[in-house]
Amino acid sequence: MLPYFTEFYGNASAIHSLGAAAREAVECARESVADALNASPEEIVFTSGGTESDNAALRGAAASRAKVGRHLLTTAIEHHAVLETMEALAHRHGFELEIIPVDCEGRVDPEDVGKRIRPDTTLASVMHANNEIGVIQPIAEIGAICRERGVLFHTDAVQTAGKIPIDVRAMNLDLVSISAHKLYGPKGIGALYVRRGVRIERYQDGGEQERGRRGGTINVPGVVGLGKAISIAQAEMESEGARLQSLRDYLMDSLQSRIDGARIIGSRQHRLPMNAHLCIEGVQGEPVLLALDGAGICASAGSACTAGSTDPSHVLKALGIDRDLARGALRLTLGKSTSADALSYTVDVLADAVRDLRKMGAATH
Ligand code: PLP
Repeated sequence: MLPYFTEFYGNASAIHSLGAAAREAVECARESVADALNASPEEIVFTSGGTESDNAALRGAAASRAKVGRHLLTTAIEHHAVLETMEALAHRHGFELEIIPVDCEGRVDPEDVGKRIRPDTTLASVMHANNEIGVIQPIAEIGAICRERGVLFHTDAVQTAGKIPIDVRAMNLDLVSISAHKLYGPKGIGALYVRRGVRIERYQDGGEQERGRRGGTINVPGVVGLGKAISIAQAEMESEGARLQSLRDYLMDSLQSRIDGARIIGSRQHRLPMNAHLCIEGVQGEPVLLALDGAGICASAGSACTAGSTDPSHVLKALGIDRDLARGALRLTLGKSTSADALSYTVDVLADAVRDLRKMGAATH
């Protein structure tokens, strides 16, 4: 990215040679993103991240097909970037929204999606994998049903791009959102795949950048960072996925055997290799997080975007987890720098913290 902040600082839309150098780098990154999704470069639109991609896809597609129908489908466990956008379309723009439930493992049943499609259904959005519990959805099956029934299909692949395979053609995807900072790229840059032939109404007026689909000067260093990060992630996907999965399984097994009342949430089989999510009976998430942070371990109670909220996560509610148990939610995400030693240290720290917090809880009751 660095040269594109300094010597090649041209605007990618400019005619002069500095602009051409920036443009070349942007187009090279576009090819890397397209390759990672088995798409064509002209099907990739650069955005400011996952939230913008989700908004662009859903608002743009709903508006472009509003004359055909106004019935929209999404699931109960989507990220707020999808849920809030869908709710805004329903409450402020006259669309009808139907929420698809998940089972107790956090999975959507493709047949259920099929049953909810009506003649006026124009758009369905089902996330590829969930950001809290890491559960992977049967996207190819849902995509096949939507394609057959003439419904546009969007998936939020922010959690999966560069981590597990995505093939927009084999999965019958029309619109896909990705974000660079989830795959070791920079923050504030992402992309939207728009299948050739799918029209989305312009959601941001301005210049003719991105073939008129997204007005605004392109963030060249960000785009270069996304392109490089996704190429590296693709190349390492298989080996890193296998390494993280075996570490994660060790972590989940150790936590369950060391901590009474630690419940793993979500499907074990259909799960991102780096995600561990558990609810611990009899403790609150926040003091556990503070204890972990004090020991140098960065963890989360669920989604970073809802931190600070005292309500249990909508994802856990959708799985039928009761309120008390949901308060003890803990998400541990592994990554490139996670070692086996770091995990056994984490298990020790967490087991001690839970024991101490339970003792304190018992003493104050
Ligand atoms: N969708 C999912 C599933 C996410 O996990 C996130 C971020 O956490 C987003 C969308 C939003 O992406 P961004 O932070 O790039 O706007």
